[in-house]
Amino acid sequence: MPISIQARLRRLGTGMLDTLLPPHCLSCDEAVEVQGTFCATCFRATHTITEPFCVRCGVPFLHAGQGIGGLCPGCLAHKPAYDTARAALHYDDGARRMLLPFKHADRPELAAPLAARMARAGKELLARCDLIAPVPLHWLRLWARRYNQAALLGGRVARLARLPFVPDLLQRARATPPMGDRSAAERAALLAGVFRLHPRRAGRVVGRRVLLIDDVMTSGATAEACALVLLAAGASAVDVLAAARVPDPRLREQA
Ligand SMILES: [Zn+2]
Ligand SMILES: [Zn+2]
Repeated sequence: MPISIQARLRRLGTGMLDTLLPPHCLSCDEAVEVQGTFCATCFRATHTITEPFCVRCGVPFLHAGQGIGGLCPGCLAHKPAYDTARAALHYDDGARRMLLPFKHADRPELAAPLAARMARAGKELLARCDLIAPVPLHWLRLWARRYNQAALLGGRVARLARLPFVPDLLQRARATPPMGDRSAAERAALLAGVFRLHPRRAGRVVGRRVLLIDDVMTSGATAEACALVLLAAGASAVDVLAAARVPDPRLREQA
């Protein structure tokens, strides 16, 4: 008996879909069994931040002997405006394999697995915060990239923790040049006056504990600048949660 045209098309269609879209790793092109997951190589290449780390800014220590009273050299020299910062991953080659495509290659689906790891790293911060807001992107960058990676992460984390999410709580008045190798002081100077509260969101902040979300935390200058704006607007406290944390070069030299 001849096979119906519908059956032929169906068979052809399934075959084509399997050829065109076999499940592949979210980060590389390796085949995986389940869509929306990482291959074993990419998963093993990321490193979760575990203790010891600075109790305030969360920067990882190389060994338990680093830091004085649990604090890193940066926090000892200058107490941050934010209360506590934590991050899920060490910003190494493995984290870059996930975060760079997320930031620059239009791969928003990377937000879900990153947010799950952030929710674990920031469990204590999530338990005490009133609302979640992302570090804002300048509208020109937003237009070029199509999405703010910090806002995608923040929305996912808020959903996991069942907390209010205010994506436009903060605004970026101007785009800043890439911070690259600039010192903490240079970063702070470049960020002066860059962030402001959304004029219609002032009521959301007063007396509230805000959890600020970013993709990569480097010196903490961005978190500091955002925290200062939120505190000036009446926030009771600000905590910070990032997907990845760049190590402090001073701690490497010390080791
Ligand atoms: Zn992979
Ligand atoms: Zn610190």
